[in-house]
Amino acid sequence: MNELLGKKALVTGGSRGIGAATSIALAEGGADVAFTYKSSADAAAKVVKEIEALGRRAFALEVDAADAVAVADGVQGAADRLGGLDILVNNAGVGAIAPITELTLADVDRVLAINVRGAYAAAQAAVPRLSDGGRVIHLGSCAAGRVTSPGMTLYAMSKAALVGFSKGLARELGARGITSNVVQPGPIDTDMNPADGPFAQAQIGALALDRFGTPAEVAAAVTYLAGPAAAYITGTELTIDGGHLA
Ligand code: NDP
Repeated sequence: MNELLGKKALVTGGSRGIGAATSIALAEGGADVAFTYKSSADAAAKVVKEIEALGRRAFALEVDAADAVAVADGVQGAADRLGGLDILVNNAGVGAIAPITELTLADVDRVLAINVRGAYAAAQAAVPRLSDGGRVIHLGSCAAGRVTSPGMTLYAMSKAALVGFSKGLARELGARGITSNVVQPGPIDTDMNPADGPFAQAQIGALALDRFGTPAEVAAAVTYLAGPAAAYITGTELTIDGGHLA
C-alpha cells in the first residue's frame, strides 16, 4: 500500500478521467501529488480534497499543456511546492477523431502541441529536478500500435510519437536509474471516450474483453510503473487494452 511513501509526483491533466484516477492512486500509494488542469477548476478542487483526505499533500495548477513555457513553469512550480520531484506522469491529452481530409493543419498543430510537445516540455523541465531512481510515465494509446477504424490518423500519430520519445528518454536517463515508459490504454470510460458514446460498440468489437476499461485500471498500471517493483522496466510499453492487440 505505502510503496510510494515520501515520493513526490506531478501528473499533467489530473482534474478528470485517467489523470484524476492516477493522481488519487499515487496518493493512495503514499505520494504527495501536484497535478495540472486546463479549465476544470471545480473538478480539480475535488481531486485535491480527495488526496488531502488520504493524508497526502495535493496541489492543483492551472497550466495549458499547449503552452510549452507555461508547462515548464508549471513543472518548476510543482517541484518547488512538493519539495522535489520523483515521478512525472505525462497524461494531458486530447482526442482528434475525423478523416484526414477534414482535419486542418491547425488541428495538427493543436493536437501535437498538447499530446506531444506538452509531454516533451514537461519532461525537459522535469529532468534536472527528478531524483535519481525517478520515473517518467507517458499516457499513450493502443492506437499507437494498431488502428482498428478510420479517423484516427492524427491521434494515432501523436501517440506513436510518445513511444520514440519515451525510448530516447530511457536511454538518456538510465545512468541515473530513472525509467521512462509508456502506458498504452485501450478504450477507457472517461469524458473523452464514454462507454455509452457513439463509437463505443465499434471499439468493444475490436477487443478480446467485452467492455471498456476504467480509469482506475489504468491508474493501477501507472502506479505499478511508479513503484519500486518496476525499477528494472524502462524504454517499453505497458499495454492495458482489453485485448485490442490480441
Ligand atoms: P479526459 O478528456 O477525460 O481528461 C483529460 C484531462 O486532461 C483533464 O484533466 C483535462 O483538464 C486535461 N487536459 C486536456 N487538455 C489539456 C491541456 N491543454 N492542458 C492541460 N490539461 C489538459 O481524458 P482521458 O482521461 O480519457 O485521457 C487521459 C489520457 O489518456 C490522454 O492522453 C488520452 O489521450 C489517453 N488515452 C485515453 C483513452 C480513453 O479511451 N479514454 C485511451 C487511450 C489513451 P480539464 O479538466 O481542465 O479540461
